[in-house]
Amino acid sequence: MHAALEFVGVSHQYDARKTSSDHYAVSNISFAIAPGQVACLLGPSGSGKSTIVRCAAGFELPQAGQITIGGTLMYAAEQAVFVPPHRRKIGVVFQDYALFPHLTVAQNIAFGLHPKHSQFTASTAEDVRARVAAMLELVGLGKFADKSPFELSGGQQQRVALARTLAPAPQFLLLDEPFSGLDPQNRARVRDRTLHILQLAGTACLIITHQPAEAMYMADQLIVIDNGQIVQDDVAAGIYNAPHTLQVANLLGEINSFPTTMTNGCCQTESGQVRIRSSGNGEITIAFRPENVRLVPATQDAEPNDMLRFRLSVLIVRHVGSHVVVHLGGDDPHCGELHFHAHLPARGDAVFLPEAGDEVLLMVEQRDLLAFSQQGYALKST
Ligand code: ADP
Repeated sequence: MHAALEFVGVSHQYDARKTSSDHYAVSNISFAIAPGQVACLLGPSGSGKSTIVRCAAGFELPQAGQITIGGTLMYAAEQAVFVPPHRRKIGVVFQDYALFPHLTVAQNIAFGLHPKHSQFTASTAEDVRARVAAMLELVGLGKFADKSPFELSGGQQQRVALARTLAPAPQFLLLDEPFSGLDPQNRARVRDRTLHILQLAGTACLIITHQPAEAMYMADQLIVIDNGQIVQDDVAAGIYNAPHTLQVANLLGEINSFPTTMTNGCCQTESGQVRIRSSGNGEITIAFRPENVRLVPATQDAEPNDMLRFRLSVLIVRHVGSHVVVHLGGDDPHCGELHFHAHLPARGDAVFLPEAGDEVLLMVEQRDLLAFSQQGYALKST
């Protein structure tokens, strides 16, 4: 089956003809999104997210590579192919929704059904009415058909924009920061609803976001971009558990790390040694997620095993709702000054929950340890 959207080696430079600079907004971008999948493009501001969307939609003409939509060539530098935006059968939901204030909600949705940019062949006015009604039902706005979009909340406006874009049955959907205009409380509700609408619609899409939690919440496929290049492309769990760089590890969630010297494949601490299942020797950084930490009272005689261990003092304990954050500090003769966080279950009756001032032994299983070079690149597992 053809990918819904595929980029192969796409590079783009703005004002390429006018400039002698070799700065590419994005370079050598390759990824494929399968039919029906929700992909998220995650990266900081200026990393090239909008440029990728603009190239996919046909608003920019890249300088290199190839872009296909549903297996049809939209752009190929070598073959001088460039399909203009209105013939790509792509739907774009812009950040500000771009709804027409002089049209009702239903008229806004019907606007997308103009035969010029529609896959959906609405031959009669009745067809259009039926399609608009189906779209209103899909986004749960049946009652609002005759309202002006500006009588609706931000989240409802976002759904009108989504319905308008989905009405012509586009082959592919691009959503540019779709939740950025919403306040934090609404945002969670709207993104949840959007996820369900996208699943029902079954249209593959690419969502741009700079919010990691949002990207992980929405994505079947997560593409992390930085500085115009793809850093990692995988399911969210794959990136969270095996990040390619320490920076990506930090981006997707809190992580503890410390520098150490690896000798004979092992990391030595005052409380024992653990074999690191990664290539590389000498100075490295070891990291682990706070939820992968086990704490026991320091007095408890921990059985000897192949785990990372540190003897630490509990500095602060905070209940943050879904879990408890335990701040731990200490000074290890092999690894230096340490400050870690442990996330423990808030109602984990079986789990030892220490108090500030306690001395504890922190343990992390070997399989939960990540190893990075001094430059922050993941070391290969052995
Ligand atoms: P993002 O969407 O991740 O914020 P962009 O794709 O907008 O990133 O930008 C990527 C790079 O391209 C940045 O260095 C930005 O300054 C540059 N850029 C974006 N749009 C233009 C433009 N119209 N003209 C020149 N440079 C641009």
